[in-house]
Amino acid sequence: MIHRLAVGATLLTLCAAGPLVAQRDFSAVEFEVTHVGGNVWALISGAGGNIAVSSGPDGVLMVDDQFAPLADKIRAALTEVGQNGAAAELKFLLNTHFHGDHTGGNVEFGDVATIVAHTNVRERLVTPQTRNGQTTPAAPAQALPVITFDEALSVHFNGEEIRAFHLPNGHTDGDAVVYFMGSNVIHMGDDFFAGAFPFVDVASGGSVEGLERGVGEVLQHAPDDVAVIPGHGPISTIEDLELYHRMLGETIAMVRQKMDRGLSSEAIQAEGVGSEWAEWGGGFISTERWLGTIVQSLSDGSESDYVDHGHADEGSHTHGRSGG
Ligand SMILES: [Zn+2]
Repeated sequence: MIHRLAVGATLLTLCAAGPLVAQRDFSAVEFEVTHVGGNVWALISGAGGNIAVSSGPDGVLMVDDQFAPLADKIRAALTEVGQNGAAAELKFLLNTHFHGDHTGGNVEFGDVATIVAHTNVRERLVTPQTRNGQTTPAAPAQALPVITFDEALSVHFNGEEIRAFHLPNGHTDGDAVVYFMGSNVIHMGDDFFAGAFPFVDVASGGSVEGLERGVGEVLQHAPDDVAVIPGHGPISTIEDLELYHRMLGETIAMVRQKMDRGLSSEAIQAEGVGSEWAEWGGGFISTERWLGTIVQSLSDGSESDYVDHGHADEGSHTHGRSGG
């Protein structure tokens, strides 16, 4: 299931989110268009977050839009979806979260599409965001969500209910997963990195425990045969998402135990993970960085008394701040 090429490309993507985008060469990027189920197609390039597209008699609804310089390639890929091959009109654009490799195209599509996202996505897009000493300026008005929601929202489109619902404090503080109920497809946004350790943006309200809880909630309610589009990586199954959820639970529990025993972040990182999860560090997020992120997240969170124990290692706090 793990496509190493795609994961490798993700590295470029996530590092380039933000001010560096303008300097990046997108000329070699190609979109693979896949029919996932019902009205839903996936546009996957590895250059940014995976795109889902609903195409039908009502037009096109798109979930995420990668980077602005890829807009023409995305428009070309949209002509390949749908039953008749004709370019249908883009009506709605849903953002799974604020990161630039998922919302960068908003500025290109916002003039024709109604942009929908969680309240905190708009809040972060209108506010300059600083990470790793680099500031991403506020997005122009055209790129902003015009409809926002706190808990959940449904778009009734192309003969089905397309339900976006919020998972609190997972990858960021504004995550939404999008469930195409009739087509039986779910887009997980960056709450799911298929077959790889995830990036958790603790500086933007993300948390490893929130992520584990949110994915668990999806697993409780999603049908067994639903097709799962991850934020990054290949189209997956519920079994793949269950394995990812078990990885989250086991690696978080392992780190928590070691923190309780007084191990430093460096010691925890040096000990690594068990052989079952060793390969999961081959993507954008290395094993060392994932373990550092867990320490950082558990140390910052109110659910941990790690700092009170006096074991907090300031060095570990530089992990997990970069990327997208
Ligand atoms: Zn992201």
